Amino acid sequence: MSARDRIRDFLLKNVGKVVTTRQIQKVAQISEYARRIRELRDEEGLEIKSHIDRSDLKPGEYILESSKPRTTLGKRISPQLRTEILERNGFTCQQCGAGPGDPDPFNPNRKVRLHIDHVVPVSQGGTDDKDNLRVLCSACNQGKSNIQTVSEPALNILARIRKLPRSARREVLEALKKSLDSD
Ligand SMILES: [Zn+2]
Repeated sequence: MSARDRIRDFLLKNVGKVVTTRQIQKVAQISEYARRIRELRDEEGLEIKSHIDRSDLKPGEYILESSKPRTTLGKRISPQLRTEILERNGFTCQQCGAGPGDPDPFNPNRKVRLHIDHVVPVSQGGTDDKDNLRVLCSACNQGKSNIQTVSEPALNILARIRKLPRSARREVLEALKKSLDSD
């Protein structure tokens, strides 16, 4: 049973009751429970609310409002759509500009992974339409974005450069270095 399964089970046993992060952490047996909660909410459509959604909840408190997931949402993005979005965004994180295989800024031993993110979260009515989807790296996706944001023109260029063969990317790098050195 995965951490996500354990959290789902626990929440379903406590529908309508306030549960705490501590309880969830204990059930999940992992520290990254927040991401699992987000998945349950965004991918499975479970109505998990926090203090952000409800003023009667304190930080660190959650409530599953209904045992029934929202029916209209919660379906996963198909592999085809995922590929389409990745290609459209040039395999480039739309927040920090990271590409696949770049080192994870929070864990240099690991590489970032690219995720498909909903610009307007599913929990707030966001859809799986292409214009509501974008690529985010694992670091930005976890909301750890004290990472420097890259401007839109730079992102577009980065995305195009990533599609070039290695030799051409090196040429771009050399040309950029030259132009920056002469500034
Ligand atoms: Zn990023």
